[in-house]
Amino acid sequence: MITTAVFDTKPYDQEALLRAAAGPAIDWRFQEFRLTAETAPLAAGAQAVCLFVNDHADRACLAALAERGVRLVALRCTGFNNVDLDAARALKLVVTRVPVYSPYAVAEHAVALLLALNRKIHRAFNRVRELNFSLNGLVGFDLHGKTAGIFGTGKIGRIVAQILRGFGMRVLAYDPVPNPEWAGRHGVEYADVSSLAGFSDVLSLHVPLTPETRHLIRAETLEAMKPGAILINVSRGALIDTKALIQALKSGRLGGVALDVYEEEEGIFFEDLSGQVLQDDELARLLTFPNVLITSHQAFLTHEALSDIARTTVANLRALGEGTAFVEGSVLTC
Ligand code: NAD
Repeated sequence: MITTAVFDTKPYDQEALLRAAAGPAIDWRFQEFRLTAETAPLAAGAQAVCLFVNDHADRACLAALAERGVRLVALRCTGFNNVDLDAARALKLVVTRVPVYSPYAVAEHAVALLLALNRKIHRAFNRVRELNFSLNGLVGFDLHGKTAGIFGTGKIGRIVAQILRGFGMRVLAYDPVPNPEWAGRHGVEYADVSSLAGFSDVLSLHVPLTPETRHLIRAETLEAMKPGAILINVSRGALIDTKALIQALKSGRLGGVALDVYEEEEGIFFEDLSGQVLQDDELARLLTFPNVLITSHQAFLTHEALSDIARTTVANLRALGEGTAFVEGSVLTC
């Protein structure tokens, strides 16, 4: 029996994990709070912890886990920028992630944001509910015939590119590891970063957050973008320099911005703060722009993605208990 402390648990996580783990092999300890160095001692007695994107597994936190007998840190997400892998290695902690889950969930959400923002569905919805049937200020543009720029042609970026090709868009892409065979098959053209910024009517980010990609979109990139262009980010908040983004929005050059992630989302996204005063001034400013659409890191939230995530996580927890191999491609440190 593997005792597993699951941090930052929401009802949908619990449901999916319990369904995937039907049977007695795992003793779950579901916690609603996030994992930090301060909360790590509460994992005492567990052999594994299960984390999500805003848990904070820095060196102090991992040391506290290792000291209390934890052997596996199982991330129930793809990105792992919130775990200090060097520290985990030094402490002999195994870290696993979910290498693949429905990329369609995330790609389709990126496109949903693009369509909603461009055609001002978020504003139209509110207007019509107030019996304001005016169309003033709701003009969008045809995607057909326009150019999209895709940063990152991994699992998610490729699907976004294919969907946008289906709309009749020209698709440019940038990836340090290009996939020419796929691009040829789908009529996607690889180009350099400045061409993507300069020619795209829609720019969408599908790259992991690393020291190299932090603030990939900053003042210079925003200045190089085509006036009126739409920027979409469903990857990680810190890919965009928020201060520079606010300046670009204030200048009126950007057509719109849709975000499913935010640089300082930890402690805000996934929580119901509707009865509180929002303390983050930059997020508060972003929410005032009529051409900004924000969702709270929900791109992964489909039944299919949740069950894929739960299946891989449970398989890795069982592998720890049985001493068998972890799911292929999921091991980050061992
Ligand atoms: P992936 O590993 O399949 O693809 C990432 C691609 O980015 C790779 O092809 C890589 O070569 C490329 N890349 C790396 N650095 C780059 C750079 N500087 N410029 C352009 N391309 C670069 O990953 P994926 O499954 O497609 O996921 C992409 C990201 O989406 C994840 O890292 C994660 O942060 C994010 N994500 C968000 C959600 C959500 O719910 N919002 C869910 C899943 C994943």
